[in-house]
Amino acid sequence: MCSAKAGPARPQLSFLGGARSVTGSRFLVETDRSRVLVDCGLFQGLKDLRLRNWKPFPVPPSSIDAVLLTHAHIDHSGYLPALIRDGFVGKVYATEETRKLCSILLPDCGYLQERDASYANKVGFSKHQPAVPLYTEADAEAALKSFETAPFEHEVEITPDLRARWNPAGHILGSAMISLEIRDKVRPRKILFTGDLGRPHHPLLTPPSQFGEADILVTESTYGDRVHDAEENALHVLEETIKATVAKGGNVIIPAFAVDRTEVVLLLIKELVEKKIIPNLPVFVDSPMALKTLEVYREAIREGRPGIKAHLNGMTSPFDPGNLIEAKTVDDSKAIRNQAFPCIIISASGMATGGRILHHLAHYLPDHRNSVIMVGFQAAGTRGRALVEGATSVKLLGRYVKVRASIVEVDAFSVHADSKEILDWLGKAKKAPEMTYVVHGEKTAALELSRKIEEQLSWPAVVPHLMERVRLD
Ligand SMILES: [Zn+2]
Repeated sequence: MCSAKAGPARPQLSFLGGARSVTGSRFLVETDRSRVLVDCGLFQGLKDLRLRNWKPFPVPPSSIDAVLLTHAHIDHSGYLPALIRDGFVGKVYATEETRKLCSILLPDCGYLQERDASYANKVGFSKHQPAVPLYTEADAEAALKSFETAPFEHEVEITPDLRARWNPAGHILGSAMISLEIRDKVRPRKILFTGDLGRPHHPLLTPPSQFGEADILVTESTYGDRVHDAEENALHVLEETIKATVAKGGNVIIPAFAVDRTEVVLLLIKELVEKKIIPNLPVFVDSPMALKTLEVYREAIREGRPGIKAHLNGMTSPFDPGNLIEAKTVDDSKAIRNQAFPCIIISASGMATGGRILHHLAHYLPDHRNSVIMVGFQAAGTRGRALVEGATSVKLLGRYVKVRASIVEVDAFSVHADSKEILDWLGKAKKAPEMTYVVHGEKTAALELSRKIEEQLSWPAVVPHLMERVRLD
């Protein structure tokens, strides 16, 4: 329902997050009758960004009619439990798979915050006395009740003057770009939010849907200043790294984002094993969240859900390279160390900011025989970024650990389109948007993509500032 409030006379878009940064995606669309939020992400990474999570939400949560989610990643969904606890009573529209993934990711996020707060209280380093979590696991569980499924490729009436449509974005399971239509007799408007845009070739997911047309475009730019290595190179680097590590009698450690990276890495290892390019090694998946996520992916494949490549439909064990071992408990995780060499360990988190991967890195980094393969974007300020930038020691679990293992970065595993892929995708638009806002990228990446859009497509493009507001009419 549309709440009684005096909105702006003409529709407006406000960039409440994800502006000149890759986290905290939050875009507010307001008309004279409605107020909806597209994505409700958590700020992550550098401390300055994280502190933003603690500021009061820029508009009263109770005044927002609905939240529309592009996908489940925490930087797009992770603020929801706080928004709902603080008064938001509308519906959270998301695709079926986004809802399922959020039911794993959000409670985990709440749990981690509670754990960190209680640790801070024990050690006594928090500025808050006592330290409090931003929200709890219970807040996150409660937030899940507000979800409403938005089917792919169907119009959904959000408020009397707003309609939305979710089209596959090929980024992670359930991910969508959202086309939001403002039904205005005088000046109807269509705004396309890309969310995070996937790549043309994903081993599991269908490529991003065609752009179609929009009056206003809000595009991501995570890799706006980079072109990924060729995918064949990625497979080659994976293959060579595994072979070289096995030859030295070492282990391969892969910090992977629980959602999607784990699945893609398993599929590729399976391919290498089946082609007898690498030996059939034990492959451990050691992350409770990755294991739960694996189940959601398996279910989607079994059921042939939208966005899954047709040739996988109905497959029963798409992720087992031959010797897959699921480390479910902490004891299972600890037991991995007793394994005879060699093996592959896939564990979260992908940027090595938390989770069981910390224990594996602390154990395996000091030995030159081991290799660590970084397979995703490493945000500024994270341990993962320090490793790919050649840190000779990193702090793990309170101690500095020497880095002697080989660190290999394979960015072709990225789930984000690079600048060329974004431009190719944009280039197929039926008509040029009147304005393109470049968001969800660190400043240099966003500015570079904006420049390329102007130069190569001759479309007007700008990189908005945080909290900037623009008219949509
Ligand atoms: Zn994402």
